[in-house]
Amino acid sequence: MKTAHDLISAGWLRGKRVLVRSDLNVPLDAAGAITDDGRVRASVPTITALTEAGARVIVCAHLGRPKGVPEAKYSLAPVARRLQELLGAPVVFATDTVGPLARSAVAGLADGQVALLENLRFNPGETSKDNTERGAFADELASLAEVFVSDGFGVVHRKQASVYDVAQRMPHAMGGLVQTEVEVLKKLTESVARPYVVVLGGAKVSDKLGVIANLLHTADRLLIGGGMAFTFLAAQGYEVGKSLLEVDQIDVVKGYLDQAAERGVEIILPTDVVAATEFSADAEHGVVDAHSIPADRIGLDIGPASAAAFAAKLSDARTVFWNGPMGAFEMAPYAAGTLVVAQALVDITSKGALTVIGGGDSAAAVRQLGFADNQFGHISTGGGASLEYLEGKVLPGLTVLEG
Ligand code: ADP
Ligand code: MG
Repeated sequence: MKTAHDLISAGWLRGKRVLVRSDLNVPLDAAGAITDDGRVRASVPTITALTEAGARVIVCAHLGRPKGVPEAKYSLAPVARRLQELLGAPVVFATDTVGPLARSAVAGLADGQVALLENLRFNPGETSKDNTERGAFADELASLAEVFVSDGFGVVHRKQASVYDVAQRMPHAMGGLVQTEVEVLKKLTESVARPYVVVLGGAKVSDKLGVIANLLHTADRLLIGGGMAFTFLAAQGYEVGKSLLEVDQIDVVKGYLDQAAERGVEIILPTDVVAATEFSADAEHGVVDAHSIPADRIGLDIGPASAAAFAAKLSDARTVFWNGPMGAFEMAPYAAGTLVVAQALVDITSKGALTVIGGGDSAAAVRQLGFADNQFGHISTGGGASLEYLEGKVLPGLTVLEG
């Protein structure tokens, strides 16, 4: 498989129009300001390497989930401004994706200059399930450039026009960010340094349960916190009050608990929980026993004893993958569990362990709690993509690059 780096070393890119699929899907606040620019920052090294090689760089990306038509609140315009600041060079923003304005923006590029196309998902072809419709949109994208560089790790698990179909239509290469992410994931799946501890939490419980089947074959310990913990506690027969619970997954979880016991994989659940009367920072809240959560309470964080136990189970780890915050960290009363786990990762990182954080909210959490990215081994830009990789699934955006 070719990498962007190979093309650069070959000196082949000067004057070439290079279409780069980046992941610029950043969170915005109600006023449209970027609240975490991690993904824009992560996309900069590949773009810079290409411009320094003399390429005319055409960046394409999506933001949010518009339904195939333009919607002002999903415009990439604020991202174009941020990208320009981070690159320290002008970014020409094309207010359409493949139409006349995009073509004229591309035509106006000199060697080493950058254009950003408007949100890919303003076009129904981008995410269409219909191969012909997706292909037609990919044809239009491909017509803008001579080479395609796939660097949007957060979308490589998607069979979408700008990820999958476009690579079938033109010479292509893997960007440096995707390369780095895949190298890290290989360290979590091939020749893993042990103990290998996986911390799972967050709110997207059913999306994340699937990975556990595979982790039972690779990990030594699973620490389960966040909203995910309650389906496990329920599977053990405990009442979880009004906490997040996926009733239809209880049997699946029971199966995991049995398999873990057979294989000698430790599954560690919270023994205490910060429980509140409602999902709010001002609600009455306190620490309760995880095995007797009052019927009218919602568990919103792991309790202090659980956080200490999780930290102890992390202290000798040599490899850690963490996906999903331990609590509703956005609200100060429920942030302590996430803080303790983050600190435990920082401590073992400084002692040489490989620590990997996946998941948009998990990454936002550690930044919000005041940690710097370089205190961890790697902060992934693609939570869903990393999970699918660890689950052993085929990632269309990676396999297409092999062809
Ligand atoms: P990530 O983006 O890291 O993959 P998720 O999207 O699955 O993580 O979940 C993040 C969200 O989970 C956060 O917004 C957080 O508030 C929420 N969360 C964590 N613990 C709980 C809980 N006990 N109950 C409800 N929500 C929770
Ligand atoms: Mg999330």
